[in-house]
Amino acid sequence: MAKTFLTVILCVVWLPVVAATLDGVRVHESPEATRIVLDTSAGVKYKYFTLDKPHRVVIDLATATPAKGLDVTKVAKDLLRIKGLRGAPRGKGFRLVIDAKLKLQPNAFTLKPIAPYGHRLVVDLASFDKARKKKVAAKPQPRPKNRDVVIAIDAGHGGEDPGALGPKRLQEKHLVLQIARRTATAIDAKPGYRAVLTRTGDYYLAHRKRTAIAREARADLFVSLHADAFTSSAARGASVYTLSDRGATSETAKWLAERANQSDLLGGVGDVSLSDKDEVLAHVLLDLSMDGNRSYSIEAGQSILNQLGKMTKLHKKQVEQASFLVLKSPDMPSILVETGFISNPQEARRLSQKEHQTKLASAIADGIDQFMRSNPPPGTAIAARRQELRHTIARGDTLSEIAARYGVSANALKRRNAIRGDKIRVGQTLFIPSEL
Ligand SMILES: [Zn+2]
Repeated sequence: MAKTFLTVILCVVWLPVVAATLDGVRVHESPEATRIVLDTSAGVKYKYFTLDKPHRVVIDLATATPAKGLDVTKVAKDLLRIKGLRGAPRGKGFRLVIDAKLKLQPNAFTLKPIAPYGHRLVVDLASFDKARKKKVAAKPQPRPKNRDVVIAIDAGHGGEDPGALGPKRLQEKHLVLQIARRTATAIDAKPGYRAVLTRTGDYYLAHRKRTAIAREARADLFVSLHADAFTSSAARGASVYTLSDRGATSETAKWLAERANQSDLLGGVGDVSLSDKDEVLAHVLLDLSMDGNRSYSIEAGQSILNQLGKMTKLHKKQVEQASFLVLKSPDMPSILVETGFISNPQEARRLSQKEHQTKLASAIADGIDQFMRSNPPPGTAIAARRQELRHTIARGDTLSEIAARYGVSANALKRRNAIRGDKIRVGQTLFIPSEL
């Protein structure tokens, strides 16, 4: 008995001085901050501070030394905010110096192990000016008359969080960023629309940050893009999800939501979740406005699903519901599009092809457009267009003749109705643009 007791005591005493190794250093840059991630073999004690002239950020690891073969100077050179890294032993630990190009505001925190990562020390370096400016809230400007419909396109995962993994080291984060960019292009090409990307490179964005960017852009719809993996490689096809507070409509939905919600743990969120008070308020807001947004989201999702169904296999023909955190914005209709399963080798190959990505992007954009045309947000050009005259083409009608009859140019007529060449068909309804 006494012997066991002694062993326990020794462990407690010895644990904190167990030396750790610094096994790896990764750098991710986002428009707002540069993130440096230190992989350590155990939890580490650390402190950090900045120095000026020239600008530096110093991180002292009290108990960790670099693993054999790790050369911190080779990790990153000449990035947006940093010139490079260097380091030297210091006591029983290691001092890492980040040579910065400008004054940086560091924020460091540790993360406990979560597969595939072990212990991590994360250092976020924001540009000093940006960090200060953030505190001054901009007053919302009145929106222009006949404004564009704003669609936020959110490429899932990024940076530390690779998302699902497919064959040949295919990572979901790269795939969905490509698809998101193409979707934004397809949306911008439609008159009356403007796309906003939440993520523009390979870096992690917390769920709350994603919706915050969309909210700042005053998005009318938030669309999160994914290409996930499932336990069975046979799972395939695209699906569309909206938020459910009451549990998932299917096993796949539940499984995917749980995985997606782990994202913040993987990506590493320093200032975790809302404070208790905010949480309560957020829930009240959610309940108040969710019902309206919920049916709007489902309808928008169904419209996208219909278009996707024309060009790819569908996993489910109906919009599914699950508790995806990224969809929990009380004030914004939000949907999540699962473009396919990268755990299915054939689908993984297709999803990586430019041609398929472009088709997916157009289908998503068309689905959004179709939905918005019948549910236009007030004050938008799309809403104004609903009041426009329409003309149903009769036998013998020509574009130039219709244009002349309504006093508009044939080109404006073609542009408004996305007609290429001169082809029109009997029974087709044309919108007559009200030229300004
Ligand atoms: Zn995903």
